[in-house]
Amino acid sequence: MDTELLNLGSEALRKAALNQDAKNYVLSNPTLFQTLKKAANRYIGGETLEETVRKVQAENRRSFKCSIEFMGENTKTEEEANSARDEFVQICREIKKQNLNSTVSLDLSHIGLNISKELCLDNLSTICREAKKANTEVLISAEGHEQTDAVLDSYKAAAKSHKNLGITLQAYLYRTKDDFKEIVKESGRIRIVKGAFETPQGLSIPRGDELDSVYLEYVDQLLYQNHTCSIATHDDNIQQEAKKIIQKYTSSKEIYEFESLFGIRNEQLVRLQDEGYPAKIYFVYGKEWYLYLCNRIAEYPLNIFQAIKDIVE
Ligand SMILES: Cc1cc2nc3c(=O)[nH]c(=O)nc-3n(C[C@H](O)[C@H](O)[C@H](O)COP(=O)(O)OP(=O)(O)OC[C@H]3O[C@@H](n4cnc5c(N)ncnc54)[C@H](O)[C@@H]3O)c2cc1C
Repeated sequence: MDTELLNLGSEALRKAALNQDAKNYVLSNPTLFQTLKKAANRYIGGETLEETVRKVQAENRRSFKCSIEFMGENTKTEEEANSARDEFVQICREIKKQNLNSTVSLDLSHIGLNISKELCLDNLSTICREAKKANTEVLISAEGHEQTDAVLDSYKAAAKSHKNLGITLQAYLYRTKDDFKEIVKESGRIRIVKGAFETPQGLSIPRGDELDSVYLEYVDQLLYQNHTCSIATHDDNIQQEAKKIIQKYTSSKEIYEFESLFGIRNEQLVRLQDEGYPAKIYFVYGKEWYLYLCNRIAEYPLNIFQAIKDIVE
């Protein structure tokens, strides 16, 4: 396989995902829209909460926990931020009503972080209160490095009043070493991910052995401290090594979970679950699936062949 060619394709997709003209073209062309949607279906819960709830119910029946996110980020107006908040409230209500084994995940920039911190914290509090009624957790996602301070500050402010609130930390950022010391003081679940966003040189550790061992070091510290956490990855090697750490501390199943995105390496989650480890599937839904599909292919360019297969079948 020509890796250079695949990487070129991957870079082009990243650009296409962010190109508003390309996005508008796809959204306004029904044939293209329906064709690409077939490829997106592999990775999304659906366009609506209703479709996603059905998939979550199916995974719950197979004993998987789930997390639900309404897709979106970088909301520009208060009206959009409040409308996103209402959708997250609706997710919490459905979790309660349908008795789903699911948490909620969100980007703070989706509920107003880039408009005002107060608006974002108000919206976050509303969602956390609703999630509490459903007896579930809200997990804040990690965004681009320019947002890290604002996201972590908001988490620390909100975590004081909402014990069902957790946060995602990106192992690839060098700064996470210091952030971790602060964040671990709060009791909310910490989800460890490698990190998805491009950063300027010097801010992040590239994919490879160093990043893998840093990632596992965070898992080790969390389990050693008996701190609730999520081991969020598709990396089989990390999952296998994390199992050894779990065995070292004989951690309670309430403390940790393995978590993967819906449609990616879910066969590994099935194996983990068969071995007795708690496993969780992360669903996203909404109309912004075009960007999401491009990102899934861009981060693993071989997925382009799967996409073509999904489209023609
Ligand atoms: C539940 C969850 C929540 C996340 N939340 C955030 C977040 O809030 N902020 C953030 O920056 N990132 C987030 N991510 C993404 C994360 O940062 C990584 O970019 C992503 O998980 C890929 O890294 P990896 O750990 O799988 O390891 P990688 O080193 O990227 O991949 C390891 C192996 O996993 C498989 N793999 C990885 N990606 C794919 C794919 N798309 N298709 C098929 N196989 C694949 C391949 O076999 C690959 O060799 C989240 C990931 C998960 C699972």
